[in-house]
Amino acid sequence: MIVQQIAFVLVLATAIFYIRKRVLFIRNTIKLGKEKNITARKNERFKNMLLVAFGQKKMFKKLIPAILHLFIYVGFLVINLEVLEFVVDGVLGTHRIFAPWLGSFYAVLMNVFEFLTVAVLLACVFFLVRRNVLKVPRFWSAEMTQWPRMDANMILITEIVLMTAILTMNAADQILQSRDSHYAPTGSLFFSSYLIPLFANLETTALIIIERFAWWFHIIGILGFAVYVTYSKHLHIFLAFPNTYFASLEPKGHINNMPVVTNEVKSMLGLGTSETATGEPGRFGAKDVNDLAWTSLVSAYSCTECGRCTAECPANQTGKKLSPRKIMMDTRDRLETIGKTMAAGGDGLNDGKTLLNDYITKEEINACTSCNACVEACPVMINPLEIIIELRRYVAMEESGSPAQWNSMFQNMETSFAPWKFSAADRFNWAKD
Ligand code: SF4
Ligand code: SF4
Repeated sequence: MIVQQIAFVLVLATAIFYIRKRVLFIRNTIKLGKEKNITARKNERFKNMLLVAFGQKKMFKKLIPAILHLFIYVGFLVINLEVLEFVVDGVLGTHRIFAPWLGSFYAVLMNVFEFLTVAVLLACVFFLVRRNVLKVPRFWSAEMTQWPRMDANMILITEIVLMTAILTMNAADQILQSRDSHYAPTGSLFFSSYLIPLFANLETTALIIIERFAWWFHIIGILGFAVYVTYSKHLHIFLAFPNTYFASLEPKGHINNMPVVTNEVKSMLGLGTSETATGEPGRFGAKDVNDLAWTSLVSAYSCTECGRCTAECPANQTGKKLSPRKIMMDTRDRLETIGKTMAAGGDGLNDGKTLLNDYITKEEINACTSCNACVEACPVMINPLEIIIELRRYVAMEESGSPAQWNSMFQNMETSFAPWKFSAADRFNWAKD
């Protein structure tokens, strides 16, 4: 038994080591972002987090996938309570340590876990079929290259295998309880009872091996999953919470002005300068990830790659190159590249590449109509438009690199305060008669 305990502690310590390493990596890359002080309206933020991240509110636009996703989510939260018992048993060398303490309530708990286990299993099968057999278009668009598709499938298959391991373990355990008093009684477990006939004729030794194998498989699988999640789009399980909390509370359509520019315009129009803007404006817009607010970088790591934004994007629907999902994926890929260089002792940002041009092209950002459909569609309140606007702002203000028609419009705005080339005096001629 002591060998098993040592092995368990080693496995647990390895998982904790890698999770910690990865958390620090992600934190360091997010810290590259521009400061944005968010302290006001805490109640509204907390409500958003509760409704959207915890309550999955925005998922309920389509009922069946929403319910199945809810099963996976609740299953993840609740079944992981069972992992607590796995960890205590693994460290202390005990078996179902909570069973004698909880008495008949233990059976209730285990049956709830089993119900969720089966629900998660069925939901994962449904989602696999939807992705790979029904081939829902948003899972097969251009940016969904081999890795993102494999990432989603791997997680679904892993969950199915882990859930099967729980049911197998419980079935073998129930037979062992009837043969050996060493096994704490769990009470009758509804779903795994259906598997008992598969194992009922096996020798006790074989059952012990099956039960132990399923136990180890499940806990190693869970710990491996916990490490893997930090490299995958499934990071949204955790980051959806801060992302919804720090999401903008402004009405959709609100665009963050640059105080320095607002001041310039106000003084030009003789309206005084109410906004505080001192010193150098710094860079206009964003060329790379360090020019974006840190909240946009959290969003990049929170993206579930579900493609709801891209499916709603009018530019994408009309065949333009723009996909708001790709904007988020590219931002995260850029962060990952920089993070790896920083972890190896390098600067990271000065690798001759930038988010604009090397990851996201001008053709993509210029196709955006600023309609906010992507923002509305996102189930975790990500705002791809904010990144697009910052990149476009850089192109327009630092490079004067916008399309020629736009540049003449900008010039007209500056000189005539209107998109057209009328002098200010002529502007209201149309109303004279
Ligand atoms: S705001 Fe831009 S990226 Fe978002 S849906 Fe509209 S056109 Fe597409
Ligand atoms: S930005 Fe939101 S809607 Fe778009 S793919 Fe990511 S999670 Fe889905």
